[in-house]
Amino acid sequence: MRKKIVAGNWKMNKDLQEANILASEVVNMVKDEVMTDTVVVMCTPYVYLNKALKLTDGSKVQIGAQNCSEHASGAYTGEISAPMLKSIDVPYVIIGHSERREYFSETNEQLAAKVNIALENELIPIFCCGESLETRESGNHFDFVCNQLTESLFHLSAEELEKVVIAYEPIWAIGTGKTASAEQAQEMHEKLRAHLASKYGDLAEEISILYGGSVKPGNAEEIFAGKDVDGGLIGGASLESRGFVDIVKSI
Ligand code: PEP
Repeated sequence: MRKKIVAGNWKMNKDLQEANILASEVVNMVKDEVMTDTVVVMCTPYVYLNKALKLTDGSKVQIGAQNCSEHASGAYTGEISAPMLKSIDVPYVIIGHSERREYFSETNEQLAAKVNIALENELIPIFCCGESLETRESGNHFDFVCNQLTESLFHLSAEELEKVVIAYEPIWAIGTGKTASAEQAQEMHEKLRAHLASKYGDLAEEISILYGGSVKPGNAEEIFAGKDVDGGLIGGASLESRGFVDIVKSI
């Protein structure tokens, strides 16, 4: 059975006090209201990871980082390594978010290296993929997104791939309020699973594929109903506890 996962990506938001309030509220609401075995993850800014790990200790809420370096250590000012995240017991890390691809020019090849180092350090990569509006309008979106998987994940062994979570996030739906329709999400997820199956066979059925892009309490249920949609990566709506937990509950 594939895991159902809802992960919040806080991006570069919240000061320490706000972060404490948000994390505590999510922990309490999840404890009282989420009876399923849905995995709930909060991907906080690096500076709050330690505190967030303490706040969520013993709860059903897991913590993730939003990025890691492809290097293990060295003269990379400002970077955070996978061994550092491992050393504080962070379980998840987002890799290849479209904002990192766009603003920090992260390439498929570099992301393959990030996936490797995350796995070597027992972190679970939430690997993001997705096309721009221009690519979708050109009709090339399936090939484009499948190629992102090929170039960043297909070097992995089956044992390694099994640990990866994939998040399909069409760039035109991120933070725009414009979500993909439930049909568009399901259609892409099905293609991605078939693409995984072309290399990894039945293992493709075990890989959780999350949808991300303007998921809100009001549209989550419809999107999550797709048979290949195994949860969501939530940006803006993860910054408010009530809405985020309502999204979790709509799985
Ligand atoms: C994201 O940044 O991963 C995301 C899905 O953002 P939003 O939900 O705000 O569109």
